Amino acid sequence: MLIILDEFALNMNFTNENILSDSALERVYLHSRHSYPEECCGFILNDGVKECENVQNKLHKLDPFKYPRTARTAFTFSFEDLLFLDRSFNSNNPVRIIYHSHPDLGAYFSDEDRNHAIIDGEPIYPVKHLVIDVQSTRIGCAKLFKFVNGDYQLVKLFDGKEI
Ligand SMILES: [Zn+2]
Repeated sequence: MLIILDEFALNMNFTNENILSDSALERVYLHSRHSYPEECCGFILNDGVKECENVQNKLHKLDPFKYPRTARTAFTFSFEDLLFLDRSFNSNNPVRIIYHSHPDLGAYFSDEDRNHAIIDGEPIYPVKHLVIDVQSTRIGCAKLFKFVNGDYQLVKLFDGKEI
């Protein structure tokens, strides 16, 4: 019974939040396609989308032992973008969703994604996460994850697009 109530509350909550417009989703899809075959990352704010730089290749080049992954399979925000994210929460246009793409891997919240989003069992930032399944000629789909009951769980699936 508790679980049913929780899910009901979750759905109600979600339909009350119009946080991802069609135009914002289209911009995120285009960013994902332009960055393919590398991962892209960015922020969806109350008002608009901020495309960020994935600095993973720079880190890999500087220290391949500490950062064995390239941008093909990982993403890292720049210091400036993390500062922007942090400051946004005290502004009237806060970041609501952090997005990143998975080239040819499908849209799921990976263990690596969890390690970067949760610390001591709590979300690091008060945001949802959108993961985009980007392929060589199209977007497969996108999935939105929300922190519920100690973990990020799928709350909405977005159709893909030939883009
Ligand atoms: Zn990921």
